[in-house]
Formats: sequence, C-alpha cells, structure tokens
Amino acid sequence: MQTERNIYDITIIGGGPTGLFAAYYASLREAKVKLIESLKELGGQPAHLFPEKLIHDIPGHPQISGAQLTQNLILQSKSHKPTFVVGEEAQTVEEAYEQDGSKYYILRTDKHTHFTRTIIIATGNGAFSPRQLTLSEASQYENHTLHYFVPELQKFNNKTVAICGGGDSAIDWALMLESIAKRVYLIHRRPNFRAHESSIRAVKNSSIEILTPYVPSAIEGDGKKVSRLVINKNRTEEFKELDVDEIIVSYGFTSSFGEMRHWDLNMARGAFEVDHKFFETNRPGIFAIGDSCYYEGKIKLIASGFGEAPQAVNGALLHINPDANIAPIHSTKL
Ligand SMILES: Cc1cc2nc3c(=O)[nH]c(=O)nc-3n(C[C@H](O)[C@H](O)[C@H](O)COP(=O)(O)OP(=O)(O)OC[C@H]3O[C@@H](n4cnc5c(N)ncnc54)[C@H](O)[C@@H]3O)c2cc1C
Repeated sequence: MQTERNIYDITIIGGGPTGLFAAYYASLREAKVKLIESLKELGGQPAHLFPEKLIHDIPGHPQISGAQLTQNLILQSKSHKPTFVVGEEAQTVEEAYEQDGSKYYILRTDKHTHFTRTIIIATGNGAFSPRQLTLSEASQYENHTLHYFVPELQKFNNKTVAICGGGDSAIDWALMLESIAKRVYLIHRRPNFRAHESSIRAVKNSSIEILTPYVPSAIEGDGKKVSRLVINKNRTEEFKELDVDEIIVSYGFTSSFGEMRHWDLNMARGAFEVDHKFFETNRPGIFAIGDSCYYEGKIKLIASGFGEAPQAVNGALLHINPDANIAPIHSTKL
C-alpha cells in the first residue's frame, strides 16, 4: 500500500457541489487542501443523477444544468490548485500525534493512506443507487427502454414516455420532457405529489397526463423494447394499459455511508450531526456539510451546502490555529 507522508490542513471527502466549493474556498484561504472522491468523476448528484436537468435555485444563475454547474465548480475549485484524488473511497479514520503533541488524522481509503489535520465530510448521502421497480420483468428492460438515470433528454424525442414517481425529480423530468416527447404520463401511487408547489402547479397546467393513485403492475414488450405499461389503481381491481416507448422510474435513491458509519460520529436523521456554528461533528476537527450533515432546520439544497462550506473551512482553520483570522476581508481576489 502506497503511503503519502505529508500532512494536509484540510481533507474534504466527497467531490459533489458542496465539496468542490469547500475545496475552492479552503484553498483561497491558503490552506493546504486535498479532496477525495470515490467515483472517477467529480460532481456528485448534479453530474451523475441530473446532468441535463435545469436547476433554478442557484444564486446568480436564473437556470443552469447539472452538467454546466459541475463544469463551473470544477473550474473554480482548481483555480487555487488543491490536490484532487478520484476513485478512492474514504473508509477509516484514526487519531495520531506529532512529536510536538499536535493531533492529526490518518485517513485510509480503499487504496491509500492520507494524513490531515482536519476533515470536512461532504459525502452527500453516501454512495448512491436508485430504488428499483419491483416487477420481475423490469430488469431485462433496464438500460434499454427502462431508465433509473436520464442520460440525455434527446433520447426521448417524439416518444411516449411514462414517468413513475411523485417527488421533485419525477416532476422535473416530466416538465423537461413535455416539449421533447410526443406524450408524457406521470404515474404516482398517491393522490398528492411531494414536490415544490410551483412545479406541481406547472405540471397541472401542462399537457402531461397525471395518473394517480396508480402503480405499475406489468411491463409488456420484447424483453428490451417496452410496448405497454399496465398500471393498477391503488387497492382496486381497476387497470389501465398505456402504450409507451420508454419508462423512467424516479423512486429516489438508497445510499450508504459504508465504513464511515463506524467513525463514532453522532448521527441524526441519517446524516452526521453537526453544530450550528462551524458544522463540526462531535469529533473535534471533523466537520460535515451539504447533504451529509444534519442540524435543526437543515435543508438539503445545493445553496445550503454552498453556505455551509466557508463556515466549516473557518472552523477547520481555527481548529488548526486558534489565533487564525476567521473573519477575512470580504473582497476576494485571484
Ligand atoms: C433528481 C434530483 C434533482 C435535484 N434538484 C435540485 C435542485 O434543483 N436544486 C437544489 O438545490 N438541489 C437539488 N437536488 C439536491 C442536490 O443535488 C443535493 O442537495 C446536492 O447534490 C448535495 O451536494 P453534496 O455535495 O452535499 O453531495 P453529493 O452531490 O451527493 O456529492 C457527494 C459526493 O461524495 C462522494 N462520496 C460519497 N461517499 C464517499 C466516500 N466514502 N469517499 C469519497 N467520496 C464519497 C459521492 O460519490 C459524491 O460524488 C436534486 C437532487 C436530485 C437527486
């Protein structure tokens, strides 16, 4: 196992939007920064789960796609040259002491050992995978005409698409595809959707055909190409047959913090519990931001993660040097 000997000031775990912005801000503050990402590509959820979706609530961007936001964040984060390590999953952490008594952390990934004075966890909800459709025939259509990720919108050009799900992403996909697809069905098992009010209003005012409360009960086709989706009205014997070309299942994602669950960090609501000041966990010098953290009033939005990043960086700088200036001048320069 290769060992890297020099001790970094701040190691950020997770290269999603929050981690990337933290890496930028920490290196702007002249800290020695490393970012470790388990996937081979940086960018987190916007890059991998919704590259083409337009995001409307990023300050300063009336609208921006997940892919464009990722590109901008990577460009910005690299401007002060932090160290990026991709394709390594953070697994264990232990405390160590230098000869002068100052504490640092030994952070092990599945490939290497890293040394750092502080850690900022920005792992989102951990490694993610989609909740699947529980129909036995579903898996054969997967990656052909049944999708859990939407790679490119144009694939659905002039197609009849059934979107299953009732949360923000199902509604977002339906709205994005309305002008591209021939016809869009939105199928949800409950009468009401769990999404932003404005999105629900937009769907209701659109040509999208809403089918609630229905659940998929069978897929018909040649094993690759879907031709029909049969849906069942919840708790009744009523069925509908929809002629469709493509099915998008948007039931959310399951995710796991893996080995990081054993770091002796307090957890709340499936996230690392942090304080309100610097987003520090119960282990001094270990912070958590973005979707990976929980505090009272936490909202899982990209904008919230962007706000938490500078606070955590300031906390980390103070942890390293209690005399550090945590109220830097508010004008930035290259
Ligand atoms: C379909 C969809 C639409 C959305 N739309 C919006 C929207 O319009 N506006 C908005 O504000 N938010 C939206 N969100 C939520 C938004 O994507 C998240 O709030 C945001 O991505 C959180 O950023 P993050 O950096 O905290 O985590 P993530 O984006 O989840 O990034 C975490 C990164 O950490 C990595 N990682 C995980 N475990 C490890 C490990 N052990 N070691 C190393 N790396 C690790 C992951 O691979 C990942 O790259 C949407 C989410 C989805 C799914």
